[in-house]
Amino acid sequence: MPQLAQRVGRAKPSAIMVIAEKAKQLKAAGRDIISFSIGVPNFLPGEHVYAAAREALSHDSGQYGSNRGPEVLLDAFLAHIEALGLTGYGRLNVSIGIGAKHVLYNLAEALLNEGDEICFPAPYWTTYHDIADIVGAKVNVLPCPSVQNYKLAPAQLEAALQRKPKVFLFNNPSNPTGMVYTRDEIVALADVLVNYPDTWIVTDDIYNSMVFDGLGYHNFVHARPELRERLIFVDSVSKTYGMPGWRVGLIAGPESVAKAMTTLNSNHITSLPEVISAAAIAAFTGSQDVPKAKCAEFAGKRDIVVEALRAIPGVICPRPQGAFYAFPDISVAFGKSHNGVRIGNDVEFCAALLEATGVACVPGSAFGEPRALRISYTCPTAQLEPGLQRIQQFFAELV
Ligand code: PLP
Repeated sequence: MPQLAQRVGRAKPSAIMVIAEKAKQLKAAGRDIISFSIGVPNFLPGEHVYAAAREALSHDSGQYGSNRGPEVLLDAFLAHIEALGLTGYGRLNVSIGIGAKHVLYNLAEALLNEGDEICFPAPYWTTYHDIADIVGAKVNVLPCPSVQNYKLAPAQLEAALQRKPKVFLFNNPSNPTGMVYTRDEIVALADVLVNYPDTWIVTDDIYNSMVFDGLGYHNFVHARPELRERLIFVDSVSKTYGMPGWRVGLIAGPESVAKAMTTLNSNHITSLPEVISAAAIAAFTGSQDVPKAKCAEFAGKRDIVVEALRAIPGVICPRPQGAFYAFPDISVAFGKSHNGVRIGNDVEFCAALLEATGVACVPGSAFGEPRALRISYTCPTAQLEPGLQRIQQFFAELV
């Protein structure tokens, strides 16, 4: 029997999907389930996106397209990022992928040799570690617990960069914590980054349109434009426009990196389908009313979630200022029992919570922080408060 490649053995099934699967089974068995587990935006793009897709379908060429992405899409993306203050990029700085996940995978292939080091703060989006494992990179996780609001401190970054990692991967706003770095915090980190010219910087900022409280979105290149020659900005239509299933991700960065991504594309995906590209172009260039309205809605939901969680004695919930996640530290429950079921850790907590109350959350260990759990609050508002009440009740019943 031939063996699978070693890299496949290094890939782990997603812990997020395990809980989602269990919730699905319970639902099929007739249980009343409220899911706070999956990180999908739960809204559809504006009608103009569908109109553009239908129009593209009516004159589809059915042919392969550009490995880098059609020029109209590249231009639409360039205009989009210019509105974020990322100016001075041209078509040769851009490339596409099948969602940001594929873009990040491509970047790992393009930037990391086996044994190279990549560092990123924890809590981190699960896929970062998995992709690094698959390509055989060494991971240096930089722990950022709730006491530091889940944010990376400049001194921590400095210590990590002194090890000369090949890549520093940064995510702002954050999945799973919803934390957003202020302008001053970005400046302080950028001031460290400029001193380590041998490290690529990847900023996965796909939640950049979902920032609350007037905080604004900030990138290291805003603070230190010279970082542009080794910084790669990652974006996607998934979260901003409610289009996770359309699978369009993009980067803007140095020409050499965009070219490498394009070459990789030419060897696997070839191109994006025409209809999909048309939809993404419409999303970038059309009305931004839907993302704006959703951002306001999520900010309101954030308030409800934080208030409910902070009302639970012992639970620590740093206030998220973006995306649609909250990441409470629930370690106060460890060592206690619920209806005779002992809770030793986050995984047992989430399993007991789901079983007892029908509320599905993701254990923090999936994100490198086993004292917490992730609540994704994109569910209908009518489910939000009952779900939070069930969590409060569950805590009240712990002995
Ligand atoms: N990066 C982060 C931080 C995410 O949360 C996600 C999806 O959950 C992705 C990337 C992947 O996005 P896409 O749907 O564009 O592949």
